[in-house]
Amino acid sequence: MTKERLMTGKTKLLGVIGHPVEHSLSPAMHNAAIAHLGLDYVYLPFPIAPHNLEIAIAGFAAIDVVGFSVTIPHKQAIMPLLSEITPLAQAIGAVNTVSRQNNQWVGTNTDIEGFIAPLQTTYQQDWSQKVVVILGNGGAARAVVAGCHQLGFAKIHVVGRNVQRLQEFANSWNNSPISENLQVHQWEELPKLIPQANLLVNTTPIGMYPKVNESPLSVEEIANLPKGAIAYDLIYIPKPTQFLEQAEKQGAIAINGLEMLVQQGVAALKIWLQQETVPVEVMRQTLQNHLGLG
Ligand code: NAP
Repeated sequence: MTKERLMTGKTKLLGVIGHPVEHSLSPAMHNAAIAHLGLDYVYLPFPIAPHNLEIAIAGFAAIDVVGFSVTIPHKQAIMPLLSEITPLAQAIGAVNTVSRQNNQWVGTNTDIEGFIAPLQTTYQQDWSQKVVVILGNGGAARAVVAGCHQLGFAKIHVVGRNVQRLQEFANSWNNSPISENLQVHQWEELPKLIPQANLLVNTTPIGMYPKVNESPLSVEEIANLPKGAIAYDLIYIPKPTQFLEQAEKQGAIAINGLEMLVQQGVAALKIWLQQETVPVEVMRQTLQNHLGLG
């Protein structure tokens, strides 16, 4: 239940910057949490065109914005405008959360925390002998690679379709300890990788609404996934995706992208409010309602 609340002369500002930003689910999720906590904050959508980014961030400082989320197309472009960037965000090369600390902008990336949260809470185990196979080498794959490294995976295999982008992806980790466990592969190598996977992650948009009948893998390919492996799809609508449905039929454990979305928001709100307790269930339920999954 959300409580009624009013803005006051002291209302503090949070928000999300993006272009476009009107489809963002973050305002609904964060405002529900703020209302539940009875705090005098508001979280607003800020549509900011790329050429206005610098001036907008200067304006945010002038009006004492407490913090903001960053979405497409600003996740990399914001980095030179910040005073500090956490090592995690530096490793990924993207910032999704900014907070004002000691009159300076500090950037971090909570997608890693969002990604690993359901793995840690539901399947507590030692990952140090485990193998992960990651489909896709875009922005989300970077957070997944960093998250798997943080969990201690023995081998991190990333599979992509474009040789040049795949090589750039591999090279981008050259100065990081992550490169020791990371290998990139072309899509044709999947038949030899899938039987080794303890965790198989889809970071491609294949299977996302409205193309709900598509899957990044054929039934034959997924049939080689070991029993008891975890199949994790970053997509949160539909629930489940074709990919997860097929994997579950093979005896795999399925995780969909909704919890990652919830937990990256939870981690951001904790930073802005500087408190450890935020109403996770309210945030989850709000997202489910907005996605028609409620
Ligand atoms: P992105 O940067 O555009 O990356 C997409 C990746 O998928 C690229 O490597 C792309 O390959 C690959 N790909 C796209 N279509 C493909 C196809 N038909 N066959 C093979 N590979 C294909 O996007 P992103 O930001 O990483 O997001 C990816 C997905 O994750 C989206 O569905 C997004 O909604 C989801 N996501 C979920 C969360 C969450 O909180 N649950 C967070 C972030 C993202 P190329 O490089 O060759 O184009």
